[in-house]
Amino acid sequence: MSRKPTHKFFSHVERCFPSMSETDRLLEVIRGRNAKTVGLQFPVGLRTKAVELAQEIESKAGVTCLVSADPSFGACDIAEMPVDLIVHLGHAPMPHLRYNRVFFYDLPGPPLASLAFVDAAEPMLPKRVGLLTTTQFRGWLPRIQEHLEKAGHEVRIGEPDKRVAYAGQLLGCDYHTAEAVVNDVDGYLYIGTGEFHPLGVAFLTDKPIVIADPERGSARNLADLKDRVLRQRWAAIARAHDAKVFGIIVSKKNGQVRMDMAKDLKALAERHGRQANLFLLDLVSPEFLEGYRVDAWVNTACPRIAIEDVLQYKQPMLTPQEFEIVLGERKPEAYAFDEIRAY
Ligand code: SF4
Repeated sequence: MSRKPTHKFFSHVERCFPSMSETDRLLEVIRGRNAKTVGLQFPVGLRTKAVELAQEIESKAGVTCLVSADPSFGACDIAEMPVDLIVHLGHAPMPHLRYNRVFFYDLPGPPLASLAFVDAAEPMLPKRVGLLTTTQFRGWLPRIQEHLEKAGHEVRIGEPDKRVAYAGQLLGCDYHTAEAVVNDVDGYLYIGTGEFHPLGVAFLTDKPIVIADPERGSARNLADLKDRVLRQRWAAIARAHDAKVFGIIVSKKNGQVRMDMAKDLKALAERHGRQANLFLLDLVSPEFLEGYRVDAWVNTACPRIAIEDVLQYKQPMLTPQEFEIVLGERKPEAYAFDEIRAY
């Protein structure tokens, strides 16, 4: 995610650091590719392990490691590095993107030791339920499906599309696996530790979403968060309503760049008599957007920046769909969460 690396949703990655045998698998790949230099790209939650892993790889594989110290937010965001092989940890690849010399070491989660957190969720679930998770816990889904079916539920797991790699997998910017089964279920069970990923599903459908949290060993409903986020979004829309100059942000990141959309939005603004200028950057962060004479930002980079970091920016920051509402091109009741989908 192209944001300040402070958000807690990354923290669950830490528990999934490779065991000895997984590190051996990584060493095999490095040797198999005949790499002499290896770039390591860590999510924020795994930074504490970077020195240790780099040291181990250097000593066991006889290579030189280069740790990318830029923030790493997802498979949308692979570092440019002058190395023979980049090892990107913690995320699954996005099938529609072309990667050059990248090995995704996506750290599947630990073995499923207990189903207590699923049992805690089960009484809250409707009969027909869609299973969702992140890449870390994807290996658990078949067993959880079986467990719920024994309890009398009909379980569906949505097939992936071009942007997500695994059935049932959610990204913060792609809810296809939820949408794929929306007509076959009456609610969802999300396996994971935070609200970041299932929040977008709450905007896709009014069907209930239950979070079964393996870290806490408990379950909870995702109910209030959508209302709180919506209040913030309508406040941003209201603040941007009379803006004269819009800055339209375009990402340089391979999996976030939406240049055509940005140009279309600029043209749309101009048709409505508003000024709009394109701003190209890699890391979208408040300090890089200070000083420009714009009244409001429109973000076509990672869709979650406007949502998660709303309080960090002086000017309102809108998603493309919210910008359409400001311009009167979209009805307020057609409010939609921003996603980057690959078709
Ligand atoms: S664009 Fe999607 S995958 Fe990339 S950081 Fe944002 S939410 Fe995550």
